[in-house]
Amino acid sequence: NYNRVVNFGAGPSALPVSVLEEASKGLLNFQNTGIGIAEISHRSKEFTAFVANLEVLIRTQLDVPSTHRILFTQGGGSGQFSAVVLNMLARYRLLHPECTAADTVTDYVVTGSWSKKAAEEARRLGGGTVNVVVDGRTFSEGGKAFDSIPAHDAYKFSEDPALVYYCENETVDGVEFSHEDSSPASFPFHLLPKGGLVPLVADYSSSFMCRPIPHLADHAIIYAGAQKNIGPAGLTILIVREDCIVDVDAAAKLGATPVPITLSYKTLADSGSLYNTPSVLAMYISGLVLERMQKHGGLKHYEETNRRKAGKVYSVLKEGEAKGVLRRKVKEGSGSWMNVVFEIVGPDAEKRFLEGAEERGMKGLKGHRSVGGIRVSLYNAVTEAEVDQLVEYIKDFILQ
Ligand code: PMP
Repeated sequence: NYNRVVNFGAGPSALPVSVLEEASKGLLNFQNTGIGIAEISHRSKEFTAFVANLEVLIRTQLDVPSTHRILFTQGGGSGQFSAVVLNMLARYRLLHPECTAADTVTDYVVTGSWSKKAAEEARRLGGGTVNVVVDGRTFSEGGKAFDSIPAHDAYKFSEDPALVYYCENETVDGVEFSHEDSSPASFPFHLLPKGGLVPLVADYSSSFMCRPIPHLADHAIIYAGAQKNIGPAGLTILIVREDCIVDVDAAAKLGATPVPITLSYKTLADSGSLYNTPSVLAMYISGLVLERMQKHGGLKHYEETNRRKAGKVYSVLKEGEAKGVLRRKVKEGSGSWMNVVFEIVGPDAEKRFLEGAEERGMKGLKGHRSVGGIRVSLYNAVTEAEVDQLVEYIKDFILQ
């Protein structure tokens, strides 16, 4: 129905049909107000109640402790590349009024294109030193590809950084931290600088709500754009520890870089994420998706399904690799559940693969323009039956 195809796109990406159907009703009349969701005041009692429930849906499913606030904003992941630096430098300045900007160090774990971009933004804004804790490319053949999560002994954290940054799932390169503490590809929480509250910042844009977040309470900030697992672009979700919601104006008086008012976490927290007009429609659809997730058994259910989905795809790729038809781009143990990347071997083979997929009603498989190849995104709304359809196609393609 609706002539929809299977959408393996990396973001914006597939959303559940039942949610889109409900949302289309809400577009015309939100909760019997007689006003559509894209038309209603963000300060109406119906919408503010919806926002409060949106927070509850995230807090309960992710088990977010009372030490952390949940905030909503706009500007996407890229907006947070800037916001985390400015807010955390302000926090550092309030903790160390005697330090100058030049004395400040920010630590970046660079495992792919998005964490690399975030580190570049810190360099633009920071004024101090950006310490690259580890660079995933160092461990690739030729030193150019982000194709693994480095082993723990490679990480060099600073003693007292203003922030320690990592990207849990690299959407372009398809590398992801393991959630098994014992895995060499897990984030080395045990190596973080000791003493005080760790200023750990994580970009969860493309893996938010696909499984529980390990060590959540040890994070200072976790953020995610909605446009992968939970909704349309336009909504950015933040989980911020209370001590990282600071008076940025007081910090500016001490010499920290002034923080634009809409990027300040304190502004968002003090206004219940309604300082200015939020992305009402994106929040609404995300709320519907999160409600549906809860009904379907919450994160445990999604974790199990997502594990199986990724397992099926990696397994058929192994078969194809053994036959010399394709090549996985990420080393064993570091592959993402959400974005699986590979190359088809041979001239024009990639084009043939994409065309064949499209003939069978599957789209969104082209790799990111910066790296090429094929990328299969397996976000929550991609069903296991749809994954089976892709696996069948890859099997047939291997035999051709
Ligand atoms: N981080 C990650 C992991 C991403 O996948 C993306 C976008 N795909 C971004 C950051 C940037 O997000 P945005 O486009 O919302 O600025």
